[in-house]
Amino acid sequence: MLETLIELLNIPSPTGFAHAAIAATRKRLEGFKDLTLADTHKGGLVAEWPGAAEDTPRAITAHVDTLGAMVKEIKGNGRLKLSAIGGFAWNTVEGEGCTVFTQDGVQVRGALLLTMASGHVHAAKVNETKRDADNMEVRLDARSSSADETRELGIEVGDFVAFDPRVEVVDGFIRSRHLDDKAGVAAVLAAVKALTDAGAKPAQRTTLHISNYEEVGHGAAAGFPNDLEELLAVDMAAIGDGQASDEFHATLCVKDSGGPYHKGFNDRLRALAAEHEIAHKIDIYPYYGSDGEAYWRAGGDVAVALLGPGVDASHNYERTHIEAVMATAQWVAAYLLS
Ligand SMILES: [Zn+2]
Repeated sequence: MLETLIELLNIPSPTGFAHAAIAATRKRLEGFKDLTLADTHKGGLVAEWPGAAEDTPRAITAHVDTLGAMVKEIKGNGRLKLSAIGGFAWNTVEGEGCTVFTQDGVQVRGALLLTMASGHVHAAKVNETKRDADNMEVRLDARSSSADETRELGIEVGDFVAFDPRVEVVDGFIRSRHLDDKAGVAAVLAAVKALTDAGAKPAQRTTLHISNYEEVGHGAAAGFPNDLEELLAVDMAAIGDGQASDEFHATLCVKDSGGPYHKGFNDRLRALAAEHEIAHKIDIYPYYGSDGEAYWRAGGDVAVALLGPGVDASHNYERTHIEAVMATAQWVAAYLLS
């Protein structure tokens, strides 16, 4: 699970440019002979897994797309103004290394900085300037001091930009950007492997759905069989002041910005966690939407629940602990078998 997670974290996959992470996930899923894989037209991945029964078909969704950016403008000084992909505050990526992916497949390295970055030149303004798209720019690690020189590098408006994840594992803590939701994907894959290795199959026919547009709100709006009855979204739990979630538990989110999840489905998941002594919390996320809700909003007539590992400093330089990811995998496995 940890190996899968580290592999995924190191693959750049901002929303709209998540194909490499989808391909890596596909490769992992191809190792499980019971699964039938298919690509969605939208670029996501679905795997159908026959179960012992199929009177209440289920699906589990998790997303590999992440926050990122696109080149909005090539500035006169040769640097790049960005347009954000997904919801993040600019200060959370200040000073971060990044890669620009050109139309020709060239990767150009750089870093995102404040336009007035030097303390020796701008003094107090380094602290006082508001961090936003207009006051931040990518300084390319290439010789360019004009828009023309930057264009000669192959860079154009619309090129995708990925921020470095900076993955580090210390004493079970996993510190990285984009644990949202690669930790969820790794947990789902671990549950599939656990069942497969044990020679077990899910209780119900289950569709595994690997989403590639979650961070912009409509990842799992499509891609499920018409007879689906239940959808479990596996995504990060939000940690912070007043939150019940932490880095050592999986959390069942009973309500977020989209309102309450399905009570009957939640109750069954809570009973499973109690029965199997899975380290878990129950929580409400104040500013949060999930791919489960995306399917509801798209008209999906299914019961939806949301659970996942606690992630500290979400949509920032995130961190979780292996115990939270393990608890998530155990909960998913218990659900598959129930
Ligand atoms: Zn997420």
